[in-house]
Amino acid sequence: MSDFSCWFCKQTIEEHDVKAVAIEISNLWFSGENQPIQSFWAHSKCAQQNLSGGYIFDPDDLINPQ
Ligand SMILES: [Zn+2]
Repeated sequence: MSDFSCWFCKQTIEEHDVKAVAIEISNLWFSGENQPIQSFWAHSKCAQQNLSGGYIFDPDDLINPQ
């Protein structure tokens, strides 16, 4: 069973969504060994739709590095 829920639509992310993503967010300016990081998860489709702003985000890039 998966405990991951989507950051955007709040629905459970099923394992068949093989391109689902983990999103780690940290402060841009504070860097160091103990830098706090928050993790979120998202369906591949939700990530593609919601993270494509200034550039096109494609979950395929994470599993098929070019
Ligand atoms: Zn979603």
